[in-house]
Amino acid sequence: MSGRGMGRVMSEPVNDAICPFCLELNQCQAHETGDCWCDQVVIPGQLLDLVPEQLKRRVCICRRCLQAYTDDPPGFVARLAERDSAEAGLRLF
Ligand SMILES: [Zn+2]
Repeated sequence: MSGRGMGRVMSEPVNDAICPFCLELNQCQAHETGDCWCDQVVIPGQLLDLVPEQLKRRVCICRRCLQAYTDDPPGFVARLAERDSAEAGLRLF
């Protein structure tokens, strides 16, 4: 623990501790030890394409979302699209 990350810095445009898909903590350790599980895995290019442009190469995808995508790519994309449309206020239900 270096002290970084103990307090939220609101002026930071990107919170790199948050997974861009599920918005949960991604638990990436790259910033703390320089050695994260995400260094050992290959993120599918199609999954990377789903990351919003401003977040690409800045934030980590969490393990759960990577697993969810690997298990069921179309399902993952569908859920993501569903969430996005819900956020945009286009609720269908
Ligand atoms: Zn995630």
